[in-house]
Amino acid sequence: MTMLEPEIGEFESKDIREHVNRLLRDLGWPEPPIKLEEARAIQKLDLTYYSKTDLNLLDEIAHKTKLAGATILGTARKMTEVVEKAGLRGLLLLKENDKKIFIDDEVVQLKRRFLIAHEISHDLLPWHRSLLMGDNEHTLNPGCHQMMEAEANYTARKLIFHGDLFQREALDCKFSWNSIKALKHRYGNTYTTTLWHMVCERDPDHPAFGLIGKHPYHSDIGSRKSNSNVAYFPRSKAFRERFSHVSSEDLFNVISTYASRNKKGPIGETELILTDLNGESCVFYMYSFSNGYDLLTFGYFLELHKSLVGFEG
Ligand SMILES: [Zn+2]
Repeated sequence: MTMLEPEIGEFESKDIREHVNRLLRDLGWPEPPIKLEEARAIQKLDLTYYSKTDLNLLDEIAHKTKLAGATILGTARKMTEVVEKAGLRGLLLLKENDKKIFIDDEVVQLKRRFLIAHEISHDLLPWHRSLLMGDNEHTLNPGCHQMMEAEANYTARKLIFHGDLFQREALDCKFSWNSIKALKHRYGNTYTTTLWHMVCERDPDHPAFGLIGKHPYHSDIGSRKSNSNVAYFPRSKAFRERFSHVSSEDLFNVISTYASRNKKGPIGETELILTDLNGESCVFYMYSFSNGYDLLTFGYFLELHKSLVGFEG
């Protein structure tokens, strides 16, 4: 199944933007890339890397952790199972005067950044903090947990792309792979998060989508446990509203028509027509790139399709 994050409410997203801006202001509006260790210092958050084989540390975590509503009372061995099963790569432990982020040491350097920002976000948002701190076993039902994860991901992206600065800079350049590449380097993040942010935040009122997943010709690129062709399908607000009927599988089928067999680098591009919910034919540009781990694709609306209408005089 393609992962679709639940939509964050307008009130919450405004609140999130304000919290991120306050943290950036406390950091003195630094130049990108943001140093997360400075953000952690302000939040008084320690960072530890854990190994899934470190049973002592997992034991310590197990005694303090609540995961998706369930208190883990068991031993480290049980915790190992939880970590494996949930595919858990980051954790936040909150106690009075003892706040710690734990990150799986198998996660590669550049990806750690997003995970750390995600855990900082749980601590930054007061309604997350209070849910994670108290004995609220009942409040964290799966739906609530999923929403919290989506909010933490959104906050993390806002943080590592410097609040509103990204949008201003992204609007100054064309929506292209070269721009994504330049912004990736400027903000020090992965191609995946940069593409995601470009699609959703450059101009929410402009229809755009991203696809992160498999390469049609190489099963080792972009494969995950879920086995779907597309793992993530970020969409701008306008795309969600006007093209809610277009599925990630529909778009993956389009990729298959133009993708080359190259394993890395540019994989191909095309123009296609998508009909929106009002029945209007819209021309989109679509481009795919492989970073060797995933196939990354973006598409954005170019113009309304002008059909040639002949008439008899
Ligand atoms: Zn989380």
